[in-house]
Amino acid sequence: MGAQQQQETNGKEAEEGGVGKRRKVDTDVTMDLDILDCPVCFLPLRPPIFQCTVGHAICSSCRDKLRDKCYLCSLPTAYNRCRMVEKVVESIKLACSNSSHGCTARITYYQKEEHEKGCQHAPCFCPETGCSFSGPTKVLLEHFLGEHDWCYGEKDLRYGKTYRIKTLLGVLGPTVLMGNDGRLFLVNMTMESLGGVISVCCVEPHISGSRFKCRLALSCGEPSYSQTTEFLTSSTNLHDGFPKDCFLFLVPKVLLGDTGTNPAATVCVTLKPQ
Ligand SMILES: [Zn+2]
Ligand SMILES: [Zn+2]
Ligand SMILES: [Zn+2]
Ligand SMILES: [Zn+2]
Repeated sequence: MGAQQQQETNGKEAEEGGVGKRRKVDTDVTMDLDILDCPVCFLPLRPPIFQCTVGHAICSSCRDKLRDKCYLCSLPTAYNRCRMVEKVVESIKLACSNSSHGCTARITYYQKEEHEKGCQHAPCFCPETGCSFSGPTKVLLEHFLGEHDWCYGEKDLRYGKTYRIKTLLGVLGPTVLMGNDGRLFLVNMTMESLGGVISVCCVEPHISGSRFKCRLALSCGEPSYSQTTEFLTSSTNLHDGFPKDCFLFLVPKVLLGDTGTNPAATVCVTLKPQ
């Protein structure tokens, strides 16, 4: 064990053996968060944090690169752990940016970005033109049903099971599917020059990488027509509206007539994890 490591280990033991009570004071503090960034790489400082002999604190990866010269004071130096700054960095807790959407997490400055990348309270957006509503998927769902009168195609969808979506060709606009795991899917039909275009997307705040296989089966007695296609759904927070680069299921214009609907046609959907 090198001298540096030995010193660090001893420091840890001394810290754990410390006495005295910590006081938690809930107070209104204003702070310039820039001081919690490494002055060399500008990334948030996270333990272990090191300081030069003058007292400039830098992150450990910058310490590894600079080794024996301080970037700030340009003096030859030996870096040591800076436990005071480590304690400060660990003790300052911030609210998640999604606190207004129900996230109660209090996180350190250096964990904030990581937390928010995966925060389940991050909002998704209403894709309706002219509507700026956003919220967690549960709240957004209520908004879709209450404000825009979108209909449920299925409230408790089991993966692998086939459901007949009665509303899909009966009305224009999105149909809501709710998986029995709480996942929200939208099946949207719009009219284009060639006919109706159906897209299916999974609404989630972060692209999780888990995609779903969707099987759409359209059948109609008059005029006689049937079409079945299997494709992968896209995953979106709807920030830019309905995804445009996803698979599009084309419903021939002849089936839809002037109204863009055909209540007599049957559309069945089956979703299952890929
Ligand atoms: Zn750095
Ligand atoms: Zn320095
Ligand atoms: Zn959060
Ligand atoms: Zn809306």
